[in-house]
Parts: sequence; structure tokens; C-alpha cells
Amino acid sequence: MTKPQGIAVLGATGSVGCNTLDVVARHPERYRVVALTAHRQLDKLFEQACRFRPDYLVVADADAAASLRERLADAGVSGEVLHGAGALEQVASLPEVDAVMAAIVGAAGLPSALAAARAGKRILLANKESLVVAGRLFIDAVRASGASLLPVDSEHSAIFQSLPADYAGDPEASGIRKIILTASGGPFRNKTMAELAGVGPDDACRHPNWSMGRKISVDSATLMNKGLEVIEAHWLFGVAPQRIEVVVHPQSVIHSMVQYRDGSVMAQLGSPDMRTPIACALAWPERIEAGVESLDFFSLSDLTFEKPDLQRFPCLRLAFDALAAGGDAPAVLNAANEVAVAAFLAGGLRFVDIPRVVAATLSGVSCTASDSLDGLLARDREARRFAEAEVAAC
Ligand code: NDP
Repeated sequence: MTKPQGIAVLGATGSVGCNTLDVVARHPERYRVVALTAHRQLDKLFEQACRFRPDYLVVADADAAASLRERLADAGVSGEVLHGAGALEQVASLPEVDAVMAAIVGAAGLPSALAAARAGKRILLANKESLVVAGRLFIDAVRASGASLLPVDSEHSAIFQSLPADYAGDPEASGIRKIILTASGGPFRNKTMAELAGVGPDDACRHPNWSMGRKISVDSATLMNKGLEVIEAHWLFGVAPQRIEVVVHPQSVIHSMVQYRDGSVMAQLGSPDMRTPIACALAWPERIEAGVESLDFFSLSDLTFEKPDLQRFPCLRLAFDALAAGGDAPAVLNAANEVAVAAFLAGGLRFVDIPRVVAATLSGVSCTASDSLDGLLARDREARRFAEAEVAAC
């Protein structure tokens, strides 16, 4: 029997993290949980530790670590408890870790995902912000170490599965005309501008098809999520922005497509359940049970397609613009968006002001390319400061 693969789940207490553990739990012979990390949800992490018995746990700070240590000791559960951002990088690089699920939300997930890339791990990438903020640096680190990078975002998983098996990052050589990213359109697809001015955080987090964390739910509602995915697709598959098209497909049955020179379109279909792309990334090229219902073609309603409305959802255009501008523009876009979304979720910014804050930050902060992680993180901080001032002025 082959040895189980060691897995580190970064962001274990989140939506993707929990779905990952659901899939992993179905295959105890294949996977062993080496490390789990959380930020604030200590109760959930404690329950996961009792169930999966990892060697390492990471939490945000020393107080949280002390409290978790005590609870684990009382429950007779072993496992070393670490804390802080450095510990995330440490567990992502452990020799006994074969695969790292990068499922922390936001730019906070970049250093640990990059550490996994530098350590040559199999990276299961949910944290799209890593590629948005540091695309070139990240891809170079993957190539230099021989790491493998497997997309977890359902759209990118669909594209990955629709590309030729030997695809080497050159769309022209593989006869690819276009990458088509599908978007559900989010909960506000049919709302007018006037209605959008009045929507609140809970409305935005009520996604019609997917159950996700609050930040990505808001991004889905503004279409910034699709914009971040355009940038992610550019880095993952080596495609220029002109070859990436976004199509609104409200049913979320087709998860994305690749259109070839001869007119063929390869698509991946399935139920909107993140366990499918997670299982695909975990086991590729094998296919494992993920607990997902089969698609029932006879109960499907019509499959429909629309152009995205960039007037009502300008975030998608801002992301395309940032990708075209290059340099640190995508990192600035991402930082401003994180600040604006956090303010919106806290009740301190209107939904329609999210793109205004992002656009103002892109105009107000220098986007000259940084060539190191430190440079990018400094740019991220600068953009956050600028965006916070913009939020305060709204
Ligand atoms: P959640 O908000 O549900 O979970 C985020 C996770 O990150 C939690 O474990 C959280 O810990 C942890 N975390 C938050 N802030 C920090 C920090 N500063 N340092 C360390 N850990 C932190 O997010 P999702 O699971 O929805 O999304 C995770 C990533 O996956 C995002 O990049 C998202 O874009 C991407 N993604 C998500 C999809 C989905 O279906 N949800 C689909 C495709 C991509 P705690 O909860 O303990 O505070």
C-alpha cells in the first residue's frame, strides 16, 4: 500500500477549507492531515483538530495559541500549536507536507502560498489573490522549484480540465482561440442602479448558486470576483487578456470553457459544489469520490448566456484595465477591493461605492512593478491606506 499524502489546509475553518476536509475525510487511506490553520474561529479549529489529529495547528496570535493548547490538552489531543504569519509559511513548507490547500482569503494568503511554491509542493490554489497580487513572482517560484499548481477555483478547474493534457502555456500552439469564463451574475444580476444603491451585506452574501465566504460572495455580487478570475486565468494559462471572455451564465452548470481554432468548444459541467474542483485538484489525474450529486440533465432548466453589464458592474472592467496596465496595478486593485469590501460588510460603505474606491485608488497610487514579495506587500499597504482614506471620504 502507498503511503498517504501529507496535506496542509491553510484556511481550514473557511468555506473551501471545510469542503476540503469533507473530501479528505472520505479517503483516509490516501490523505493524512499534517497541518490545519485558522484565524479567528478557534472553536471550529478545535473540532477539526479532534477529528483529524494534525501534527500542527496555526492560529493568529499567542493568546489564541495558549487557549487552544489548553483545550487540546484537556481533550487529550496532541499537536503542536503555532501562531502568526510566519507559522503559516512554516507549515506550508514542512517536509512531511506533500500538498498544500491554499484557502486563506485575501492577500493575507499570499506569503504562505508562495512559501509552498518555493518549497516545491503540490499547491491546490483557492486563494486567487496570490496570483492577482504576485502573478509573475508566483509563477516563477513554481517553475524554479518544480512545484505543481492545480486550480481550485471552479472556473479555472473547468478550464484546466478542458485544455489539452499536454498544454504548456502557449494558447497559439494548442489552437486555442479563447478562454471563456462563466459567471453566475451574482444575486444582483437583475437589479437597477437605483436598487443597487440600497443593497446591504446580507443581500450581497445570498448567492443564488454557491455557498461561499462573505468576502468572495460580495466579490461575486460586484463581479470583481470574475475580474480577479480573469487575472488568475492570465497567469495560470498564459493567455493574454484579449483572449479571455466573460459570459454570464446564471445557472452555473457550465463552469467555464475553452474555444479552439476549429470551432470546437470544450466545457466542464457539474453541480455547483466546490468539492468537485477540490477533489479534482487533490487527486489529479485520478478521479475520486467527492460526495457530489451527479448532474441530472432531465431536471436542468434552460442554459442561458448574457453579456456582462459593465455599467452596473464596473469592477469587472477595472480588473481588465488593471491587467492591461500591468506592473503593480492588479495588486493595487486587489488591496483597494479588500478594503472597500470589508467596509461594505461592516456597514460603512454603500455597495455602489466599492468600484469608486477601487477606481480612485488605482488612479492615486503608483503602479510601477515591484520585483519582490516585500515590494508587493509594501505596495499593498500603500494602496490600503489610500483606499481607507477614500472610504472615509465617501
Ligand atoms: P472564508 O472567509 O470562508 O475562509 C477564509 C479562511 O481564511 C478562514 O479559515 C479564515 O480563518 C482564514 N483567514 C482569514 N483571514 C486570515 C488571515 N489574516 N490570516 C490567516 N488566515 C486567515 O473564505 P472562502 O473559503 O470562501 O475563500 C477562501 C479563498 O478561496 C479565497 O481566496 C476565495 O477567493 C477562494 N475561493 C473560494 C470559493 C468558495 O466557494 N468559497 C470558490 C473559489 C475560490 P477563520 O475563519 O478562523 O477566521
